[in-house]
Amino acid sequence: MNIGRASIQLAQAVRAASDFTGEGQVAGYIPELAKVDPHLLGAAVCLPDGTILSAGDADVPFTLQSISKICSLIVALCQNGQKHVFERVGKEPTGDPFNSIIKLETIKPHKPLNPMINAGAIAVAGMIQGNSVEQRLNAVLDLLRQMTGNPGLSINEAVYGSEKRTAARNRALAWFLKDSGVLKTDVEETLDLYFRHCAIEVTAKEVARVGMVLAADGVIPQTGERVIPQEVARICKTFMVTCGMYNASGEFAIDVGIPAKSGVAGGILAAVPQRMGIGVFGPALDEKGNSVAGVKLLALLAKEWNLGIF
Ligand code: GLU
Repeated sequence: MNIGRASIQLAQAVRAASDFTGEGQVAGYIPELAKVDPHLLGAAVCLPDGTILSAGDADVPFTLQSISKICSLIVALCQNGQKHVFERVGKEPTGDPFNSIIKLETIKPHKPLNPMINAGAIAVAGMIQGNSVEQRLNAVLDLLRQMTGNPGLSINEAVYGSEKRTAARNRALAWFLKDSGVLKTDVEETLDLYFRHCAIEVTAKEVARVGMVLAADGVIPQTGERVIPQEVARICKTFMVTCGMYNASGEFAIDVGIPAKSGVAGGILAAVPQRMGIGVFGPALDEKGNSVAGVKLLALLAKEWNLGIF
């Protein structure tokens, strides 16, 4: 890849996609997220040698939200193994919104269908081991600090507090999981861990680095250091394809074709196997919760650089 040309193409794609920021809305159900400027748009690409290309608002911090579900899943799998985790959470897409409760009751056994929906991620948070919420959160933060190369990574307290105060729907999901025996741990403590890992603050450049580690099957390519077992990286990328873009994952797989995970703060984590990690930030969301301009941007890059995996 010619770096100079790729930088120009990235900047052009960000400019073209920024026309679409007006077509979406920032997440309103977490009051702190509703304050963000909907017209922001930034993207970063991390290449195997660690080179970062960026354009637009790639240094503006935002919270991971659902992107953190990938990191909590990695920690839960590393600590407990696949058998334990997948006895409590499934591997199937739902076709329902990320915070839906309906299939928890209608499908038997009553376990969440996958770890990328809220119910599944709350169940995963309940599997993370540690003597306190701080210790459990640190397991997730430590992994992300390694993947991003930023030892100072931490949570945005205002967003964390804002979600904790208003999370009636997530509390309903967690109590339902408790009732059906999927969640064995204390409900409020488990939710606290979930809200905190959702509030981890990053930039698009840092998300691109995370994507590159997944793209390199769990290794930081510049140093050769393995931070995630290859099998766990494979599982994550597969979930990103089947469930990563909420109930638009099928459409995204056809239109873009890159393993990706979005969050309601407007971030998208993308991993192009062996080639690059991409981090996108565009807080205006479509009705399914994906960054409107972010999806357009990834579609443009996928076409320009032939990134689709299928
Ligand atoms: N913290 C958010 C919630 O639970 C995450 C949702 C998302 O990013 O999809 O509603």
